[in-house]
Amino acid sequence: MLAAMSPSPDAIEPAPARVGLGRDRGRDDACPGALRLHAADDGALARIRVPGGLLSVTQTLALALAAEELGDGALEATSRGNVQLRGLRADAGGELAQRLRAVGLLPSDSHERVRNIVASPLAGLDGGADLWPWLRELDTLLLASEAARELSGRFLFALDDGRGDVAALDADLTLIAHPDGALLRLGRAGAALAADGPGTVLRAAEEFVRLRSGSWRIREADPDGSLLTARLGLAPRPLPALPGTRPAVGAFGYGCCVGLRFGRATAAQWRLLAAHAPTELRVTPWRAVVLPGAGAEALPALAAAGLRTEAASAWAGATACTGSPGCAKSLADVRSHAAAALDASVALDAAAALDADAPGRLLPVHWSGCERRCGHPAGAFVDVLATGDGYRVGHAGRADEVTNQQMAAAVAAARRTT
Ligand code: SF4
Repeated sequence: MLAAMSPSPDAIEPAPARVGLGRDRGRDDACPGALRLHAADDGALARIRVPGGLLSVTQTLALALAAEELGDGALEATSRGNVQLRGLRADAGGELAQRLRAVGLLPSDSHERVRNIVASPLAGLDGGADLWPWLRELDTLLLASEAARELSGRFLFALDDGRGDVAALDADLTLIAHPDGALLRLGRAGAALAADGPGTVLRAAEEFVRLRSGSWRIREADPDGSLLTARLGLAPRPLPALPGTRPAVGAFGYGCCVGLRFGRATAAQWRLLAAHAPTELRVTPWRAVVLPGAGAEALPALAAAGLRTEAASAWAGATACTGSPGCAKSLADVRSHAAAALDASVALDAAAALDADAPGRLLPVHWSGCERRCGHPAGAFVDVLATGDGYRVGHAGRADEVTNQQMAAAVAAARRTT
């Protein structure tokens, strides 16, 4: 099915919420899936749920081939560690679904859009808890649940190994590995011990469905978590402080982490990533791919292919909406212009040894083709908006009109005003 929607969604999902608390949105959120394609201006778009961002080499190669043969030749990593294909023919859905089923990426037609599960990408790799038993159990429980199929495609599960990386993603249900046991966070409320781990998570999701609130997210239907906490018979407790450390780009003891520019990589780049993945690939919610077991010797080839292998880069923390030609509302090809500005910023700031992955070093920056600012990051960021003649660079109450040529310096200066 090809759902007519406009404008095009970005690889940052979902679009920013714009409705009030508890407002009835109906159950159909029109979120794209592998079976329900979205009609974008550059063709149909399919979003494939990848629980935990975990892809086998075989699955990665199948996706790369599908992107080449059915889509525009590239795959996008989303802000939930899912994967998107763009530029599909309107009638490509059946062929795509067949290919996905063959490699285990579409285990259920009825539940495909609700398998939104993010997990700490380094879980089990660098001394922390191994989350994959939780991931497998939760996915299995979700697929077997009749009630869960009623969840919206925007409902998000997070499994955090205690480092606080995906716990910061504002998920609906977050299960955290903690020395006291598994902690469940309901929306933005506090936590509670979840004796049954993923089983408690599923019960919470089913109870949310039974609330029949008309909301897509728990934070709208039960802001303080009291309704669901009572229904589940949980004892609330304060949320512990978590470090919130995301994987940095580069080579480490566990393997390599490689950045994708604006979350997008060609089929050839994905094949190269797969070739350097001894076991599997883990797509992170921060436009990067972890290759467990890959050695530092892989980095030069990955960098030569246009992938980001150095943490000290202006590219870290940089996002952009789809822009032209994917979105008809866009006043500019923002991704091309942003890429040129970021590459110029790398040169401008080389001496400063920037490390935008390290919190506090550089402000995030987001390019938008129109005022809607699809996919802008949460919190403070440098807002670069296309005007038709150039761009407006806004931050901290200032808004400077610049030409494309002036943009790199203006953005670099604004990002340093932390
Ligand atoms: S911000 Fe505007 S131009 Fe960019 S994708 Fe959204 S609607 Fe399109």
